[in-house]
Formats: sequence, structure tokens, C-alpha cells
Amino acid sequence: NKQVILKNYVIGYPEESDFQIITGSIKLKIPEGTKDAVLVKNLYLSCDPYMRFRMTKVDGPTLMDHFVPGKVINGYGVVQVLDSTHPAYKKGDLAWGFTGWEEYSLNVSPPLLIKIVHTDVPLSYYTGILGMTGVTAYAGFHEVCSPKKGEYVYVSAASGAVGQLVGQFAKLMGCYVVGSAGSKEKVDLLKNKLGYDEAFNYKEEPDLDAALKRYFPEGIDIYFENVGGKMLDAVLLNMRENGRIAVCGMISQYNLEKPEGVHNLSVLIAKRVLMKGFVAHDFYPKYPEYLQMVLPYIKQEKIVYVEDISQGIETAPASLIGVFTGLNLGRKLVVVAHH
Ligand code: NDP
Repeated sequence: NKQVILKNYVIGYPEESDFQIITGSIKLKIPEGTKDAVLVKNLYLSCDPYMRFRMTKVDGPTLMDHFVPGKVINGYGVVQVLDSTHPAYKKGDLAWGFTGWEEYSLNVSPPLLIKIVHTDVPLSYYTGILGMTGVTAYAGFHEVCSPKKGEYVYVSAASGAVGQLVGQFAKLMGCYVVGSAGSKEKVDLLKNKLGYDEAFNYKEEPDLDAALKRYFPEGIDIYFENVGGKMLDAVLLNMRENGRIAVCGMISQYNLEKPEGVHNLSVLIAKRVLMKGFVAHDFYPKYPEYLQMVLPYIKQEKIVYVEDISQGIETAPASLIGVFTGLNLGRKLVVVAHH
């Protein structure tokens, strides 16, 4: 059973050498007397930025447990059930949710596993558009941003797992949507495949405030925040009255030993801007409603989903750390096995 182990807590940007692939052993049968367990074959693993928080030891309460050096790490994935003593699962079932970064996992009382019933779409989509990522984009945009037709929407990290969906949801609502990303290839993708009205490479803009003024001469109604830092400061200067900022993530800050400050928050007052953080997990009760909305769009190709797929669990550490330097083009995921 090949497994991905965190070698030591990470300071600064994670490196491949912070992880190790080891070969452990596992019995492909649930031990006698183990209740509520599922033994799964891991098919796909999703490389998510929040995993960076778990690579650091933090004292005090955190949203999720940190990884333990020397132990296998875990995260979102797509699994197939090989054996089960859990009343909700039987051999052969497919599910998405939390699992180990290894070939096989014994998940006892799995904290989060959602059975997959629609299999006429790519199974890997359950690491992205049909999983946690989809709920993030849907809830963050529709619930937190309260969008209205014709509004001006700006999305950062716009071609990524979450961002590419927010842009498409906003277009479906009849909004004007601009995205930023970190390479020409990503900008082309935003404009030519993902339906953004405009897109720009933030790395080539010496003055982000000026760039935003160029793309939003009348200001921004909705900002879907994925990156934080200097970008947030520039956006604040360009918000319209009664604008909304959904704080989904701040990836530019995750690897800094000392996060940058935010300087322009006072803009929120006079402009009556609402800025709200949210966590996908809180919106899982809306997952069935979301599936019902999104599945027809996928089948009619009204929504597309771009994935960046690596083969083999050996590629998992490099795949994960690549997300923090923008190496991924779309949802980064690792194929561990085919079902
Ligand atoms: P992505 O697929 O967008 O991958 C991360 C991208 O972030 C990279 O490709 C890169 O794109 C960009 N990036 C990396 N470093 C920086 C930096 N220093 N400055 C600016 N951009 C950077 O990831 P996700 O779509 O999975 O996640 C997007 C955001 O959403 C993250 O902040 C994440 O933490 C958050 N999130 C929050 C959730 C919640 O429940 N609140 C749930 C899921 C995600 P580029 O080349 O364009 O720079």
C-alpha cells in the first residue's frame, strides 16, 4: 500500500522533500468486529490549497486537524468500496469525500463520505465540479455574493478549480465577468474556453489598481476572493457602493511566515460593502440542490470543467505543491487507480 507521508512540518513554501512515499501493508478485508468501517480503493486525490494549513502545527483551535509528521496525509478524493461494515455502503459503491493519500484506506466512521449516484459523467469530476469545489463556487457565489443580472464580477485565481466555476456561474446569471490568472495560457483559457468577458495576467500588471480601473471603469459589484494580499487591496479601491466580497481563500498568504497586512479596509464603510468569509463544508446540505442544477449544464456542455491530471500516487507530492506556484491549469488531481 503506497502512502504519502508528511516528513516534517512545513515552513514557507512546501517542497517535494517535505513528503515521502512509503510502502505500508494493509489487509484488504475489514478486521473482525470493526463497526462502521469502509475499506476503499482510492481512485482520485484532489490537490487543494487548504491542505497547506494542515502542514503547519498550530496551537489552539483550527478548522481542520493538522497532519502528523510520519503519518499518511488525507484529503478529498474519489473512492471505491472494497469491503464495508458501514450500513450506508456496500462493496462496489463509489463515493467522494475524505480519504487517505494512499492506494487503499480503512476509514472507520468516515467523517465525510458522500455516495456517488450519477456515474454518466467523468468520475474525476467528483474531486472538482461535482464535489467540495463545486459546492464552494456555488455557495460562495450564489449564497454569499447575492448576484444580480448585469452586475460586474471579478474573480481572482480565475482559471483554478473554484474560479473557473465561479466565472461560468456568473455568466449564466447574466453578469459581466473578468478574471485574473498567472500566465498567458490561463488568460487564453479564461477568454476562449471558460466564457470570461475579459481576463488579464496579474503578474504582468505593475499597478493592479490601474488594471482593475481599466477592466471595471464603473467599479466592481462582486469580488470572489481567492488570493488576498495586494490583489485585495487593489480590489477594495475599486468596489462599487453596496458591493459584496466573498472571501473564499487567500492563497497568496498561505506560505508567508508573516502575512501581509490589508490596507484599504476602511473603503468598506462609505461604500457599504459587505465582506464575508465562508466555508464550503457549511453548505453541504445544499449539495443535492447543487447537483440538480449543475448536472444538466454539464451534460448540455453549458458548463465545462478543466482538469489537470497527474498519473500515479508517486506524483502526488509534486502535484500538491505545484498548486502554490500556479503550475496547475484547472483542477489539479492525481489518478491513483482506475475503477
Ligand atoms: P486553484 O486550482 O485555483 O489553484 C491555486 C491557484 O492559486 C494557482 O493555480 C495559482 O494560479 C494561484 N496562486 C498560487 N499562489 C498565488 C499567489 N501567491 N498569488 C496569487 N495567486 C496565486 O485552487 P482552488 O480553486 O482549489 O482554490 C482557490 C482558492 O479557494 C484558494 O484560496 C483556496 O484556499 C480557496 N478555497 C476555499 C474553500 C472554502 O471553503 N472557503 C474551499 C476550496 C478552496 P495563478 O497561476 O493564476 O496564480
